[in-house]
Amino acid sequence: MSNKAIYPGTFDPITNGHISIITRATLIFSKIILAITTNPSKNPMFSIEKRVECAKEAVAHLKNVEIIRFSGLLIHLAQEQKTNVLIRGLRNVEDFENETKRYHMNKYLNPTLEIIFLMATEESTYLSSSLIKEIAQNGGNVESLLPASAFKALTNVYQT
Ligand code: ADP
Repeated sequence: MSNKAIYPGTFDPITNGHISIITRATLIFSKIILAITTNPSKNPMFSIEKRVECAKEAVAHLKNVEIIRFSGLLIHLAQEQKTNVLIRGLRNVEDFENETKRYHMNKYLNPTLEIIFLMATEESTYLSSSLIKEIAQNGGNVESLLPASAFKALTNVYQT
């Protein structure tokens, strides 16, 4: 049994949708490990340092969240962190399809791993880091969709 869960992702950058999931997860588990991947396969816009910095500032008010970087397989990260619980967010059927594949692959690799899915809230169901970046790049106002730290980071990129 573990009272700790890992919430993994790219967080490029962290959005209010992620914050909603993290906040709700902290009400279920006594410790949440926010694990930000350093895996370059997703071609993140922000460096790992910037993504960690934005996330740190955005969750500073949540005392039971720890931020770490990781690369490689989630089963190994879970082993290292001595927990068998992962958290993922679900917005729509597209997430469901992607997550179903990953869920079964992770179960194949480690049957004791449990992945808990939290549904996106109604107001964050349309939020994704990629869509927010696209809107910001084209001059749209995304300020209320992101924590202040992430909005500042995006503004710095697109103001020049
Ligand atoms: P990915 O791992 O696909 O790159 P992210 O790093 O952006 O995704 O997000 C990490 C997790 O947060 C994933 O489970 C993703 O489905 C979830 N997520 C992203 N945006 C939202 C949102 N607006 N509401 C709920 N969950 C979300």
